[in-house]
Amino acid sequence: MNGLKEKTMSVLQQNYQDVNRAVKQAAEAAGRPANAVKLVAVSKTFPADDIREVYAAGQRDFGENYIQEWFEKTETLADLPDIVWHVIGDVQSNKTKFVAERAHWVHTIGRLKTARRLSEQRPSEMPPLQVCIEVNIAAEEAKHGVAPDEAVALALEVAKLPNIKVRGLMCVAKADSSDDELRSQFHTMQRLLAELNAAGVEADVLSMGMSGDMPIAVECGATHVRIGSAIFGRREQKQKGEGSQ
Ligand SMILES: *Cc1c(COP(=O)(O)O)cnc(C)c1O
Repeated sequence: MNGLKEKTMSVLQQNYQDVNRAVKQAAEAAGRPANAVKLVAVSKTFPADDIREVYAAGQRDFGENYIQEWFEKTETLADLPDIVWHVIGDVQSNKTKFVAERAHWVHTIGRLKTARRLSEQRPSEMPPLQVCIEVNIAAEEAKHGVAPDEAVALALEVAKLPNIKVRGLMCVAKADSSDDELRSQFHTMQRLLAELNAAGVEADVLSMGMSGDMPIAVECGATHVRIGSAIFGRREQKQKGEGSQ
């Protein structure tokens, strides 16, 4: 399984190269520079050895959702000092300390309280934690994030915290959206980012686009795409009723 010592690329490394190329092509197709979009490889549910393989192929930015699972991976992968960890799942209050001490990015700030704790617990010798405000773009009941019309106000409050740097906005598009519905959601994100800048917060990040909607997100200005299954493969479903995608 572990192909690190072999000359040939593993399946994961091949997937990774394909996704990397697809992201660059999507950027160019949108008239943007090929390197305008950062790929965050979403490794949730997959073992640390899989991260090592993709790391060996050149990837440095990895996204994780489940804090306990991620904690164990940071221990196992402590020998990879230049890995960049993006937390892209809900951060409960009892997990903020660890996130403040080990994450480089948190994409999923939906409440001021979480941001306050992260800022208080960020070690002073570390650079500010880079965060995005998570926008519940289609106002879905089951989803985290702040309502679109509250996003700028929340970002302005979070931006006042000393050990946090607001970089921009993040969303997960509504499942089963048509291409036009995706464009509408992503364009709203672009508009909110412009409003945030007009309100005085210099923010440049739009974290949006996953395995299923990456090209449209890039067309609509995504700067960070979060790709999991197209690199690591299908995940075991955590919940019932999600089986047929
Ligand atoms: C799982 C996840 C992803 C990656 O999804 P894929 O469809 O596997 O690419 C991206 N963003 C968030 C917030 C996720 O939870």
